[in-house]
Amino acid sequence: MPVLTRLIPSPVVVDIRPGALDDLGSVLADERISHSGKLAVAVSNGSGARLKERLAPALPGASWYEVGGGTLDDAIRLAGDIKAGHYDAVVGLGGGKIIDCAKFAAARVGLPLVAVPTNLAHDGLCSPVATLDNDAGRGSYGVPNPIAVVIDLDVIHDAPARFVRAGIGDAISNISAIADWELANRVNGEKIDGLAAAIARQAGEAVLRHPGGIGDTDFLQVLAEALVLSGIAMSVSGDSRPSSGACHEINHAFDLLFPKRAAAHGEQCGLGAAFAMYLRGAHEESAYMAEVLRRHGLPVLPEEIGFTDDEFVRVVEFAPQTRPGRYTILEHLDLTTDQIKDIYADYVKAIGS
Ligand SMILES: [Zn+2]
Repeated sequence: MPVLTRLIPSPVVVDIRPGALDDLGSVLADERISHSGKLAVAVSNGSGARLKERLAPALPGASWYEVGGGTLDDAIRLAGDIKAGHYDAVVGLGGGKIIDCAKFAAARVGLPLVAVPTNLAHDGLCSPVATLDNDAGRGSYGVPNPIAVVIDLDVIHDAPARFVRAGIGDAISNISAIADWELANRVNGEKIDGLAAAIARQAGEAVLRHPGGIGDTDFLQVLAEALVLSGIAMSVSGDSRPSSGACHEINHAFDLLFPKRAAAHGEQCGLGAAFAMYLRGAHEESAYMAEVLRRHGLPVLPEEIGFTDDEFVRVVEFAPQTRPGRYTILEHLDLTTDQIKDIYADYVKAIGS
């Protein structure tokens, strides 16, 4: 008999709304994630202190752990600190680094993770991957998906604008990533997971076409949902394919070639996506993407994040080496330096300055 359905690894709770944090304890109790209220809450030692002050009275059974940064050592230390506490769950409350530390620590001690992001900088908040700095640079560690994702849009309103805007670039880049996947399917017969592609594409399109901005709660709702859905799309396909193509290779190349000067992940991915769409000949889509990114105050030209044109050409040339085995428009065209220069000049003209 054929398999007539499949289970999708996804959080039990997705709670995205203004004021969601005020109900965190009762939501976790109602959903049987934490009946006793015994939670290990990981926060940053910076802005986390403010949130701790606000939340502690509502979570009387919680223990609070300050996490230094986003390194593997920080995550291992956190796991060591919480392992004897007999907690129901680990809560990662903060930006991407805190959540990734909490994800890894929770996996190590066999507890479920509740992700409570305080900004929307990228789509890692609900993904089965923890990105941590290690002795060799940076590593991606497979971990279980969060059991719950709680995003308080009031908290997001108060986050630094740059860390909210960046998520727009990461969400929109799904559209370019899916185009790369379809290209690999046409040229190499790589199998597309249609459900993962649909989820990721709709997430990207919803953000691309939304008329609002980061000051509007309804836009933040769509953006937060899009980033959660992108993470679920990656769980469905079992890899980052639905949300990562040439756009992300360009992003990784910025990080690897210029580790000290790299901009935010989502900023680089958005720029990479607008350029990748141009490379594949989707000139109208590229121009529209650039227009939307600009409207949100995101970069569409390398100079807007402090890079020269020549440096960008180097980035594009190096990009395919960052993800061996992934076939995108960059590997497909296999451009020479001069060809990249020419196409980049055309892109600049096409999107205007
Ligand atoms: Zn990304």
